[in-house]
Amino acid sequence: MPKILLIVVITTLIAAFFIFDFHQYLSLEALKSQQAAIESYRREHLLLSIGLYVLVYVAVTGLSLPGATILTLAGGALYGLLWGTVIVSFASTIGATLAFLGARFLFRDTVNSRFGKRLKAINEGIERDGAFYLFTLRLVPVFPFFMINLTMGLTALKVWTFFWVSQLGMLVGTIIYVNAGTQLANINSLSDILSPTLLGSFVLLGVFPLLAKKIIETMKKVQVYKQWNKPKQFDNNLIVIGAGSGGLVTSYIAAAVKAKVTLIEKHKMGGDCLNTGCVPSKALIRSAKYLSHIKRSKEFGIKKASVEFDFAEVMDRVQNVIKKVEPHDSIERYTELGVDIVEGDAKIISPWEVQVKTAEGVKTLTTQSIVIAAGARPFVPPIPGLDQVKPLTSDNVWNLRELPKRLLVLGGGPIGCELTQSFARLGSQVTQVEMLPRIMIREDPDVSAAVMAKFKEEGVDIRVEHTAKEFVIENGEKIMIAEYEGQLVKIPFDEVLVAIGRAANVNGYGVEELGITLSSRKTIETNVFQETNYPNIYACGDVAGPYQFTHTAAHQAWYAAANALFGQFKRFKTDYSVIPWSTFTDPEVARVGLNEQEAKEQKIPYEVVSYGIDDLDRAIADSEAHGFVKVLTRPGKDKILGVTIVGDHAGDLIAEFVLAMKHGIGLNKILGTIHIYPTMAEANKYVAGVWKRKHAPQGVLKWLGKYHAWRRG
Ligand SMILES: Cc1cc2nc3c(=O)[nH]c(=O)nc-3n(C[C@H](O)[C@H](O)[C@H](O)COP(=O)(O)OP(=O)(O)OC[C@H]3O[C@@H](n4cnc5c(N)ncnc54)[C@H](O)[C@@H]3O)c2cc1C
Repeated sequence: MPKILLIVVITTLIAAFFIFDFHQYLSLEALKSQQAAIESYRREHLLLSIGLYVLVYVAVTGLSLPGATILTLAGGALYGLLWGTVIVSFASTIGATLAFLGARFLFRDTVNSRFGKRLKAINEGIERDGAFYLFTLRLVPVFPFFMINLTMGLTALKVWTFFWVSQLGMLVGTIIYVNAGTQLANINSLSDILSPTLLGSFVLLGVFPLLAKKIIETMKKVQVYKQWNKPKQFDNNLIVIGAGSGGLVTSYIAAAVKAKVTLIEKHKMGGDCLNTGCVPSKALIRSAKYLSHIKRSKEFGIKKASVEFDFAEVMDRVQNVIKKVEPHDSIERYTELGVDIVEGDAKIISPWEVQVKTAEGVKTLTTQSIVIAAGARPFVPPIPGLDQVKPLTSDNVWNLRELPKRLLVLGGGPIGCELTQSFARLGSQVTQVEMLPRIMIREDPDVSAAVMAKFKEEGVDIRVEHTAKEFVIENGEKIMIAEYEGQLVKIPFDEVLVAIGRAANVNGYGVEELGITLSSRKTIETNVFQETNYPNIYACGDVAGPYQFTHTAAHQAWYAAANALFGQFKRFKTDYSVIPWSTFTDPEVARVGLNEQEAKEQKIPYEVVSYGIDDLDRAIADSEAHGFVKVLTRPGKDKILGVTIVGDHAGDLIAEFVLAMKHGIGLNKILGTIHIYPTMAEANKYVAGVWKRKHAPQGVLKWLGKYHAWRRG
């Protein structure tokens, strides 16, 4: 409502300006002919004349009307160079800021929703260099000022930055025009004021800050290398540190394009994903799911089914699964692909040298570029007493061969949730503790609720809003003391699994010595090219973030490899436009793009449609009739902003939406695509159907009804 009101007021004022031809008063001729009358008014009512002048100036610039140049000349003619400059400088900046605020208030949400992703990149640039850009735009008079005010209003530029940079940037121009105004009689046309030389100087002045910034950036890059001696020749084009998902893909790509690449791994090929992450967790989840099906045998029409199992054998199976996958990441495979593998502890000793401690001794390798893919490790918080209860983490939980009777899981994120449910299904009495109001906090509340309901149904004791304070051993029993609603609560347990986040590996291999910059999240800071503050050192995967998935590590790896090897010809910006992920709980939770809470936080307008999987034939046949597909779209359009799927095989089902979002395919096209009956994937089509029905043209349908009635006679 306030928006409509403002639009009406602004449109009326602009219309009045043109209808009543106020424009005629803002011409050089009018100013000259009225100069004597205006001056006499100014002499008699100085303050009032200043007030009126500022008001008119602010109105003209605030409404983006033509005439600011004439008003500036008038400022000079009326108040002289000094006061004219002061008055015009403030009036023009206030007017410009009002126009900026108006554009922001009226159009920013709409522009955000239409161009959200593209705008994000612009806004990141504005956040970094906004003041520089604005200053340049203000100084170079080829950009109309009203356009600058309005477009800047659509970006994330801070109001205060806009104000002071505008005032500063417009100052030289203001002085020139105000000065010209003091000799109004000598001016015959506006083009007399700016000679081509003066215009050229403006351009130079305007471009200078940006140029200076570029020079500083280049100097900084040169500076980081100053203390190092560059070898004349190199053993390698690329050295990759860490043979996890990121490092493996980086070296694979380098070898594929015939670069000489050495991959150094100090522990196990395959990194976390193969050895302690995705693979073992999914293997454990499978065994646990099997047990859950046995428990649910009646639902499948089987009167009684029982199992006998040994936890140690389940854990042995997990190791067997790792062994089966191992060849994919093995030394043999990668050697065959053309990668030199070195088993050892790598340390970067200069931007072009990596020292490796191997079983045979220490050697130093030289390289043109380095890709750091050193991964992350479980973060164990410094909670008093935690050490003495010997916490489990995702690193060592796989060594368990005896099922903990009472397992305490600290953390309600994806890893904590997957392991909570698995151990509960295997027979542990699991208490899951989360300090936030719900588990899986990154997902929408209805998603958390669905997972929490299932966990509770399976006997998990979920304690949200519980903050771990201390671990103690009382009479031989391990106890966690947590704070809940201001009270201390004791939770006894046999084993505790800490899953509250992962810290990037940034110590002990040269990052500190070289002064490689870290981000506020204590990951290696990279730019859009995966480049660190050393332009020949790159980073990808968990060590760089912001995502901590195997597929994002592999995705970044391509950019790191391509930029490291071919950056001198072309550099590629990492594309984060469509990032999917899944948490493999039961129900599975998969997401791509925005969910509702993010859309709200980012003030991105959206429509939401949802399809209940409880209605889906295949889900009913499988006795898995639960969950939903929730799609966020741009209001009134079928363009997908984000999808969340909760249900069986959600992680597989989401693939269709990932493809759709990546290639700009909307819900109409998904609806028009044949989906095999009966499959879970039909849920994707049905949610598109829900959207279509919601947007059916009611008016046309009414007339169609009448038409058919008429045909029937
Ligand atoms: C329990 C669990 C479940 C997970 N499930 C999933 C999932 O289902 N899907 C998903 O996408 N992701 C999952 N992840 C996350 C995934 O495992 C990581 O995002 C992925 O492994 C990151 O790969 P990376 O290459 O960055 O690092 P890593 O895989 O950690 O590899 C880094 C490697 O660098 C080596 N290294 C470090 N420093 C040196 C050095 N100085 N010299 C030589 N070598 C060094 C390390 O030994 C390690 O092998 C899970 C993680 C965990 C813990």
